[in-house]
Amino acid sequence: MGFSYRVPEGVSLVAGQAVFVPFGPRILQGIVLGLTCEEPSIDGIRDIEAVADPDPVLDRTHIELARWLSDTYVAPLWESVAVSLPGGYGQRAVTMVSPVDIPPLLPVYPRDQRVLQYIAANGRVSFDQLKEAVPGITLPRLRRLQAAGHLTVAQGLSRPAGRPKTERRLELQQSAGAAQAHAAQLKARQPRSVDARLLERLAVGGTSLTEARELGATPAHVRRLERDGWIREFELRIERDPLADYRFDPKPAATLSVGQQAVADAIWASPGMTHLIRGVTGSGKTEVYLDLVGRTLAAGKSAIVLVPEIALTPQAIRRYGERYGETLTVLHSHLGAGELYDQWYRIQRGDARVVLGSRSAIFAPMYNPGLIILDEEHEWTYKQVEHQPRYHAREVAEELSRLTGATVVLGSATPDIVTFHRAVTGMIGLHELDERLAPAVGGGTRPGQLPQVAVIDMREELKGGNRSVFSVPLKRAIKRALIEGEQSILFVNRRGSARFMLCRDCGYIPICSSCQVAMSLDLREQIHARLVCHHCGRAKRLEDRCPRCDSGRYRPFGVGTQRIEQEARAAFPDARVARWDSDVSKQKGSHERMVRSLEAGEIDILVGTQMLAKGLDLPEMTVVGVVDADVGMSLPDYHASERTFQVLSQVAGRAGRRDKPGYVFIQTYDPESPPVQCAAEHDYRAFYEVEIAHRRRAGYPPFARMTRLLYRHLNQEHAVQEASRVAGEIRLARDAAGRAEPDVLGPTPAYIARVKGEYRYQVVLRGRNPATILSQVRLGERWAVDVDPVSLV
Ligand code: ADP
Ligand code: ZN
Ligand code: ZN
Repeated sequence: MGFSYRVPEGVSLVAGQAVFVPFGPRILQGIVLGLTCEEPSIDGIRDIEAVADPDPVLDRTHIELARWLSDTYVAPLWESVAVSLPGGYGQRAVTMVSPVDIPPLLPVYPRDQRVLQYIAANGRVSFDQLKEAVPGITLPRLRRLQAAGHLTVAQGLSRPAGRPKTERRLELQQSAGAAQAHAAQLKARQPRSVDARLLERLAVGGTSLTEARELGATPAHVRRLERDGWIREFELRIERDPLADYRFDPKPAATLSVGQQAVADAIWASPGMTHLIRGVTGSGKTEVYLDLVGRTLAAGKSAIVLVPEIALTPQAIRRYGERYGETLTVLHSHLGAGELYDQWYRIQRGDARVVLGSRSAIFAPMYNPGLIILDEEHEWTYKQVEHQPRYHAREVAEELSRLTGATVVLGSATPDIVTFHRAVTGMIGLHELDERLAPAVGGGTRPGQLPQVAVIDMREELKGGNRSVFSVPLKRAIKRALIEGEQSILFVNRRGSARFMLCRDCGYIPICSSCQVAMSLDLREQIHARLVCHHCGRAKRLEDRCPRCDSGRYRPFGVGTQRIEQEARAAFPDARVARWDSDVSKQKGSHERMVRSLEAGEIDILVGTQMLAKGLDLPEMTVVGVVDADVGMSLPDYHASERTFQVLSQVAGRAGRRDKPGYVFIQTYDPESPPVQCAAEHDYRAFYEVEIAHRRRAGYPPFARMTRLLYRHLNQEHAVQEASRVAGEIRLARDAAGRAEPDVLGPTPAYIARVKGEYRYQVVLRGRNPATILSQVRLGERWAVDVDPVSLV
């Protein structure tokens, strides 16, 4: 919801401008969303307090986008606006109190005296800070003091994040020749003259004051040379550049293969539409993107290229930098506030016309985007899940396309099932690249090989007496690789480990009969273990033996990376083993370090989680072992099968990318399952057919839309009550509207039932457009609404 204010006389405003407005007793920062000449329909409308910035920060497109975000994702309007603002905005304005240069010689009350003393000692302070130092001081009092000329009260931003950075610099005021001649004279008199050294340095080019100090120059030196008309000191606004560490050697465009050219031409021929490029990793999608970016720039427009955060590697940046270095910028969550702020303005000014970034770069302030690319469009990191608005970058891209006419290109080896469904039904364009390419000696490409994938039935391994986590064929392949000096990856699927049951003999996983998702162990029940469905809440007793084959080896399943690392060290005592998982990856720069040691051949075996499946492209990487392919299948989420297929396909793609053939081993207790089978055959379409049939039967997207409501509270009883109230009200609103849908599932404890001591309960809605019903239900701050969630766990 927006708020209305009156524009005071003499102030002119445009939409998109930042202003300070009174809100209750406080002053807040706001953005002008629209202007009207109509008489207000409500009384007591207040004036805008001040204009924060003369230049608008948002254009019409981004204002429209904010309204769309707010409607679509049931999110507050301000949060929906804030995603498009440069760093530093979106903070609360605070009242600042500053001393004046020449205070009037008027007597003041003792308490006021304390205020004046405090600001005299501390300079500009916030009202809150002042209230702590001088209890009882009020804003009206301060305003009276201001009226008498003792101090000033003004609005300011609470934190100085995102301020422009400046640097003091020196430059010559006379010719380089004259400066050198003068320096020579000075040196003749005094060989170690600092002035001479400084002039000689400046004859080569301008320098920063810091650098001048390093040459021995003191402020006195600088002032003297300035007074004599040799140099001048000035302030330069410097841009903090996230690409400062890069040097790009410009590279000409590659000559596209016939297949690539056809795809690029077809996309270029249908502008303003959404297109999907499905092509295995290494099929040349990135070269197609680069080509389309080039055409977009030539047409005078700009391009946004989104990649998953983890794929934003130096290698990826380099590929875009070599082609579009001068107009490229990079936006991602590791940039500091200052860097983000500078790049934001660089894009807004039109200096950076190619933005490469992760999810939030979709809000880059481009006024004429011609092309928006989402590489690896199936990646769920494109969805904001932590805070509002819980948007999906793909949907935002398509809305931007509607608003601006930009073309959207989605690329993936394993597209989201919903995206592929849209493509095969003709809602978006479909383009396929089926051949893997490998760079040929002397330029160009030659056909590449997909790795050979073997599915290892772990039930057979057990029968044969192998109780280790590594199958015999995998062990043999790793040994061979070690001898040849090649590298191996052991991939551990950690999500969902140890929470589900698996029969070691027949591969059975208990499934909820109504939701078709795996049931998980209810760890809260100590005496009688139970299985629960986190979708619908259905619970059942845990059998001692496998319900399908009556085996006694029906047990909880899941192993972690650390355990596999130990096992690998034990099994291959001479190998250099390294581990890469979320614990390790939290350390800054750890990814670069790991890639560098891999490239340098310092690691023989790498053990890691699905994060590994991204972006590694190593010539000596020939063996990939998936230790536990089934684990992902157990998650109580209708995406489980899709994610397993995606992850298996991705990891398999890490092997044998260059000259040497790759070997992939998928270890599973359920070798017949479609994700395993189809990933092994590199057959996306076969997987799609199985999965879409399943979704149709079970009523999951694209045949329905989901919305997840999550409530958290320290008091469990209260959490249950509140979740039940909301579920009940939604059912009532639905029935009152005479609608047959949405289904209201729950409330149930969330899969992760407690976080930081808070109990989490969820209600899941399934229907044609379930979020529309929410306007009729009161949801407090502790409710998190996620429309089209990418995960239900
Ligand atoms: P994808 O993005 O589908 O994984 P890439 O675009 O990275 O595929 O291509 C795979 C490899 O083939 C890369 O090393 C790339 O440089 C090379 N390549 C792709 N297309 C061409 C081309 N037309 N000419 C030369 N090399 C190419
Ligand atoms: Zn069984
Ligand atoms: Zn269920």
